[in-house]
Order: sequence, then structure tokens, then C-alpha cells
Amino acid sequence: MNEVILIRFNEIHLKGGNKHYFLKLLINNIRHALSGIDCKIENIQNRVLVRGYDDADEIVEKLKFVFGVHSISKAAEVNNSEEEIVNFVKNITISGSFKCQVNRADKAFPIKSNEFAAKLGEIVLNNNSKSYVDVRQPNTVINVDIRETGKTYIFYHTTYAYSGLPLGEHRDGLLLLSGGIDSPVAGFCMAKRGLRQDILHFDSFPYTSTQAKQKVVDIAKSIKDKIGAKYMYVCSMTKMQEEFHVNCKTEFAINLLRRAMIRVANAVCKQYGYKTIITGESLGQVASQTIESLTSTNSVAEYPVLRPLISFNKDEIISLAKEIGTYDISILPYEDCCTVFLPRNPIIKPKVEDAVREEAKINYAELLQAVINNIEIINLDE
Ligand code: ATP
Ligand code: MG
Repeated sequence: MNEVILIRFNEIHLKGGNKHYFLKLLINNIRHALSGIDCKIENIQNRVLVRGYDDADEIVEKLKFVFGVHSISKAAEVNNSEEEIVNFVKNITISGSFKCQVNRADKAFPIKSNEFAAKLGEIVLNNNSKSYVDVRQPNTVINVDIRETGKTYIFYHTTYAYSGLPLGEHRDGLLLLSGGIDSPVAGFCMAKRGLRQDILHFDSFPYTSTQAKQKVVDIAKSIKDKIGAKYMYVCSMTKMQEEFHVNCKTEFAINLLRRAMIRVANAVCKQYGYKTIITGESLGQVASQTIESLTSTNSVAEYPVLRPLISFNKDEIISLAKEIGTYDISILPYEDCCTVFLPRNPIIKPKVEDAVREEAKINYAELLQAVINNIEIINLDE
């Protein structure tokens, strides 16, 4: 008997002719996630196996965040032999409700799934006085996966990952990352759909501190592997914000800042080949996230703006932020560029033409170009 880790996936099965492409991506991403750990990765039909490791828990924890992976189980590997399977099942110790589930991918195996599950269930029951069968809502499911390869995998602890699609090869997305709770979660949600992203952050130094910037770098580093990021672009909005503050209507400050952010993002996309912009906006969360405000920012976008949190409630975002490990950094109390020059009554339903009129009051093109010319690039791997 060998111990292995059995990895299962789901959506990839729906990919028809493209299945092999997605599977290759997934396996590459699994290899990348486990690089540095001594183990062997094996692709068997419709499953991936990891073997020859020391610490299973460390591997399971890493695989949990590889998108495309549906579930991960530490499993016993035996031959497709009734005797070997029964011998293993005889030694399982459990208590409470359980059921046995047999998946017979190897049709040459002589006993039908249901019949074999009943037989194995009886063995478990006889050997575990505190266990009982519950086929509807068992505490433990003992899975017996009889594969076409001649090997059977028996497992009864499963960790569920996030499913979705494997991160693509190219970094196609540009995530607008603030120091708040929402934007890292937005990046995570798009990565779950296979979108690899780099990061763009705006600061307003010296109104925002170097600690505030460091906090965002820390968030970026904590999500970089999950979203497949390599670079973080940082640029300063200070001069533009000062000009808005002095020359434009106060209630437009955030609206004008958001439009400027998108224009800088357009330029970064154009220069470095990103195809889409991602934000952590959620409908109605604040004045800058009403339909009218989103219309105003969309009207300057030259790339699709993806807002995966648009329908999320704040508590849903917070619980995901905790799961992915960004929450504790996000709540550190440093100021953000949006809080600098914050108007007391920001406009809730800005009209595009009004924003355009406000922008005409300053030397917009020159200010924007200065922001774009002074972008700092941070390699997150260093
Ligand atoms: P929270 O709402 O939790 O304070 P947030 O990140 O959502 O944090 P908002 O002010 O709601 O902050 O901003 C909406 C979106 O705009 C963010 O999710 C982010 O994508 C983008 N954004 C805001 N500020 C910045 C910034 N300083 N740099 C880059 N993107 C930003
Ligand atoms: Mg927000």
C-alpha cells in the first residue's frame, strides 16, 4: 500500500476539445505551487496524484489555492483487487455516521459499485462499534475509487479547493489594488476564473505615508501566488488630486480621481499588454459605486472593467478576505489616496458631461502624462 494525495477537478471535464490544454495548465500550476517540496506529480486519467512527500498537510494547504482543483484527499493506493481493498477497509477506524461510496471506472472489476459499497460498509460497521450507516448525511464518506490504471484509491478525508479554471499562462489582467479589504478579494475572484493579473496601486505621497504604501506591497505579496502576479506598478496621484482640490467642485473629487485611475490603467494596459482592468467595487457600497458613478468611470475605460464583487455584501467580502489571508493586513489603519481630500458630500449621481467640464478646468493631459511617466515598477518576486 502506498500513501498518495489524490487531486480531483471538475470544470475542466466540461472543456471538450480544449480539455487537454486546461489540464496541462493545471498540472503546470500544481508543479509551480509545489516547487521546492520534494515530491512526484503524476497525471493519471481524470486525476492527478502526488507521491513521495514527507508532509501531506503542507501539500494540501498549497493545492487548496490552485484554481481548477476541486478537491484533495490523502488516499491509500492499492491494486484493483477485492482482497487488497477489503484488507485496507478492515483497518479503518471511525466513529459516528458513515457511508461507503464506490466509483468503478475500471469496468473489468468484477463487483458492481453498489454491491461492493454495501459489502465494504458491513465490514466497517463490524469493526467499529461506535459507527452507524447514514447514506443521506454521513459524517464520513469512505470513497473507493477503482481506476482504469489498475490502481484503487481509498480515502475518507477531503479538503475542498476553490474549483474554477487554472490560471492562464499570460498576465492578462491589471488589478487596481488599494489598501482596503475589497480589492485583493476581487483579484482572488478573477484568478478563480483563470485570469492571471499584475497589480496597479496609486498613492498620494506625502499625504499618504510610506507605511501605507508598504501595507499595499505586503497585501500584494500575500496574494501574488494566488493571482499569478509578478509586477506591481505604483504611481502617485498627488499632483492631480491637488489640482482637483484647488480647481474643481469638491463633490467631484472622488469621481474625478476614479476616472484618472482608469485612464492611468488604460495607459499601463496599452504599454504592457494587459487586456482588462479589475476593481473591488460593489454596487451601492459608497457614493463612487452607484450605477451613475460606474457609468462615469466606464466612460473613460478603453478596456473591459471587471468588478467581480459587484453583487457581494460587505460581510461576504470580509469572510473571503479572511479565508485568503488578506483581511488582517487590510485592516491596518493607514490612510489611502481616496481618503485624502475626501469631500464631505461626494456626488452620488455624477453626470459624465459634468465630470468632463470639471476636468477641463485643469491642465489634464499634461498632469496625466506626468503620472504615467513616473510609474515605479516593483518586482514582487524580489
Ligand atoms: P474598502 O472599500 O474595503 O475600503 P476598497 O479597496 O474597495 O476598500 P474603495 O474606495 O471602495 O476601496 O475603492 C473601490 C475600488 O477602486 C477598489 O476596490 C480598487 O479596485 C480601486 N482603488 C481604490 N483606491 C485605490 C488605490 N489607491 N490604488 C489602486 N486602486 C484603488
Ligand atoms: Mg470598496
